[in-house]
Amino acid sequence: MTNIETSGKPRHMSTSLKKARVRTPGGRIVVRYNYKKHSKHLCAICKNELHGKPTGRPVEIGRLAKSERRPERPFGGMLCSTDSRMILSYRAKLKHGTIKSEDVPISLRNFVV
Ligand SMILES: [Zn+2]
Repeated sequence: MTNIETSGKPRHMSTSLKKARVRTPGGRIVVRYNYKKHSKHLCAICKNELHGKPTGRPVEIGRLAKSERRPERPFGGMLCSTDSRMILSYRAKLKHGTIKSEDVPISLRNFVV
């Protein structure tokens, strides 16, 4: 797979397309253009993969129902379940005065306060 020629057509010059050389049933070798795979969504705190959040082109995601695009809970589609539980716990403790806002780690203050 070296030196795949382009057709020169503007629609094929896009860097968002992935080129693949494919042998047709008739024996010719043609260049097919496909969309690249999108990366997985990551948790904003621990950077682990987020489940329940589909990847793909915006037009494909837009065809889904809103409830299919992210989990329906606080911080759904932003934090993993473990981290969202931790944040909600910090919020409850702050609300009831068990801890002070200085006790919350600086990296989490954007989510808590
Ligand atoms: Zn996380």
